[in-house]
Amino acid sequence: MGGLEEQLGRDLDAIRDAGLWRELRQVESAQAARITLGGREWINFSSNDYLGLAGHPALGQAAKEAVERFGTGSGASRLVCGSLQPHHELEATLAGWLGAESALAFSSGFAAAQGALTSLLGQGDVVILDKKAHASMIDAAKLSGATLRVFRHNDLGNLEQRLQWAAAQGGRVLVATESLFSMDGDRAPLAGIVELKERYGAWLMLDEAHALGLYGPLGQGLAAIDGLAKRIEIRMGTLGKAVGAAGGFICGSGSLIELLVNKARSFIFSTAPSPAASAAARAGVELIQGGEGESLRAQLWQRVEELRRGVESLGWSAPAGPSSILPLIVGGEAKAMAMMEKLREAGFFIPAIRYPTVARNEARLRVTVSASHTSGDVQGLLDALGQAVTR
Ligand SMILES: *Cc1c(COP(=O)(O)O)cnc(C)c1O
Repeated sequence: MGGLEEQLGRDLDAIRDAGLWRELRQVESAQAARITLGGREWINFSSNDYLGLAGHPALGQAAKEAVERFGTGSGASRLVCGSLQPHHELEATLAGWLGAESALAFSSGFAAAQGALTSLLGQGDVVILDKKAHASMIDAAKLSGATLRVFRHNDLGNLEQRLQWAAAQGGRVLVATESLFSMDGDRAPLAGIVELKERYGAWLMLDEAHALGLYGPLGQGLAAIDGLAKRIEIRMGTLGKAVGAAGGFICGSGSLIELLVNKARSFIFSTAPSPAASAAARAGVELIQGGEGESLRAQLWQRVEELRRGVESLGWSAPAGPSSILPLIVGGEAKAMAMMEKLREAGFFIPAIRYPTVARNEARLRVTVSASHTSGDVQGLLDALGQAVTR
């Protein structure tokens, strides 16, 4: 046994020995294509700020105005006295953008997943998750008390087997997946999933964290461009990635949102998001839908294409569709860390992603591209990669 310090010391040693040590690094600048750390400037290929909105003046202005009018804190949960105008305006904007009856803002995407799954499911129900679904949905599914089943990543045949089994259990059945996967940059076969969940009378929860703002003429995500949005019961997103602010949301029918207001514990027992964050998020969503959003997307896809061609010529494979997430799968944890260090020496900031975020021996460098990168940034990265690769 031993005292707390001694036990924690052993836990920490085990993490270190497994090559899974993590630590925080203080960034001394705003989130952008270039960031400052330890007094040095780095070219940043690690952010989810895909359109460069986190530092955009229009969002900053919206946040400042909200602070002036509503202060910095919300003061209470939404159901007490913290349901401020910026929250309601954000929710109306989100619902309009995504063509949903209603939307509900949470403090984070993580909280949104937790609130939704625990409100909709309980003992006797079944939740079927894609093997690569995000931790927020896995944890929420476990917390819900429903029976958890996993289907092989993007495998419709395997999903159908799970649905057949689940339908015989007699409870509610919910399938949960992402539209664009956060660590692989690949897409779910949405049309097939929607068809299957309908055939078996199940519901679908779709996490569009990495697709919103990027795909479709108004950046509404992959469900919208496939014309499937109306057939998906629960749509989830974050306001902290392409939208450039902070928070998360669920959108869907009016009764879904009313149910969450009444049951979602991560909504009810949590202070409302700051008015500045909600106002900035709304400004981000409006910008995404306008002409500037469109040209930022065009810029982003150009950079993505340049990087894709470059990494393919270095012998890596890239996701099938256009994706701002490009995983360079290295394999072993130590090898990924070594490669990350080589790129650091060349001035590029790219994280090595390891277990438990991805499966063991699938460690990777997760390169994310933003509209604020230049062609020169991409070329520089390709040169550094060419030199760092020893494979
Ligand atoms: C980031 C992320 C979330 C969580 O959203 P936050 O707002 O950051 O809490 C949920 N799902 C996926 C796929 C994500 O990448």
